[in-house]
Amino acid sequence: MKLYLDFEPCDECKTMMSDLSDPELVFADEETRAGESAKFLRHLTYNHPEVIQAVVKDLPIQKKKQEFDFFR
Ligand SMILES: [Zn+2]
Repeated sequence: MKLYLDFEPCDECKTMMSDLSDPELVFADEETRAGESAKFLRHLTYNHPEVIQAVVKDLPIQKKKQEFDFFR
């Protein structure tokens, strides 16, 4: 989901972010990617609520940026 957040990721975050940017997952089907993103979002909601605030605020811009970086 959000790979360029301005916050201190914990170890779990780092693992999930590296999973999300893994080529295997980037080119996986929509459902698999959505599942992984949801897992990461859930973790953020419970462990880094301040990040969710930023995500909600910046979502349209960040989503484009993320997609762009994925397919470079
Ligand atoms: Zn975390």
